[in-house]
Amino acid sequence: MKDKERYNHLNTYYKNKFGERTLKICIDAGFTCPNRDGTLSHAGCIFCSEKGSGELIRFSNFDITKQVQNFLNSYKGKRANKFIAYFQNFTNTYDSIQNLKSKYDSALVDDRIIGLSVATRPDCITEEIVNLLASYSDTYNVSVELGLQTSNDKIGKLINRCYSSSQFTNAVNILRKNNIEVIVHMMIGLPTETFDDIKNTVEFINNHDVQGIKIHSTYVVKNTVLANMYYNNKYTPITLEYYLDNLAYVVSHLRPDIIVHRISGDAPKDLLVAPEWNIHKKWVLNGFEKLLKEQNLWQGKYYKKS
Ligand code: SF4
Repeated sequence: MKDKERYNHLNTYYKNKFGERTLKICIDAGFTCPNRDGTLSHAGCIFCSEKGSGELIRFSNFDITKQVQNFLNSYKGKRANKFIAYFQNFTNTYDSIQNLKSKYDSALVDDRIIGLSVATRPDCITEEIVNLLASYSDTYNVSVELGLQTSNDKIGKLINRCYSSSQFTNAVNILRKNNIEVIVHMMIGLPTETFDDIKNTVEFINNHDVQGIKIHSTYVVKNTVLANMYYNNKYTPITLEYYLDNLAYVVSHLRPDIIVHRISGDAPKDLLVAPEWNIHKKWVLNGFEKLLKEQNLWQGKYYKKS
């Protein structure tokens, strides 16, 4: 059993890969989402906040270069010399190729930026978009974050994500054909979810050529369908104990090579409705460490190739 880290921490991965501490610059590039603009739906995923699954307040203007420069200036002398431009809010591949290129280029304006990371939906990945992303690979570490949340398409329908698990598979295949790192998003505590759903989702993820995972608990934020469900007693948020127990299951069954990018969601404090524990990131991080030690668990302990 590893003495130091019981799962593959992102910071360690970055340190090994880039030789030093590397930070992400979160960018709101003013994208929208087909699940928001009426192409697929106006409602969005039932948990999606007005910030579009980003942790930042939306910028009133989307001057990408300025956002990057502001971040770099604010980090002067803070012991980080390498950065990844991270397009976070909404669907960051949902535009024309020309506009995508112009937006990505606007972020890559400083020699200290060594990576380009783009969060998107599986149905917004095409060969053409992946060719564009791959064109940055000679100079930058390129990665794509793909939503999945669950492998159960019935729950997918219920949460109104408007893409199928097979579209996720298709997107991973296109990205990996072009050697682009894939980070999958998984949520615990979705409405109607059972333990079997969590089990099947980990297995589904293990069977895909993904390099990273972000896991977080389902939380309720203002002005969402999930908030209405909560107020009408149609959704009960999970407890911290439930989350940690299931997180331990996920991590101990996860493929040992996958990098764990996140185990807690950053619910915006001003918008969070429930559960209250969600704002205490340390409760999740420390509680999880404690649980792993007590139960002598580590990433992949129970992983079986299927
Ligand atoms: S795909 Fe992402 S941005 Fe679009 S509605 Fe769902 S959570 Fe929000």
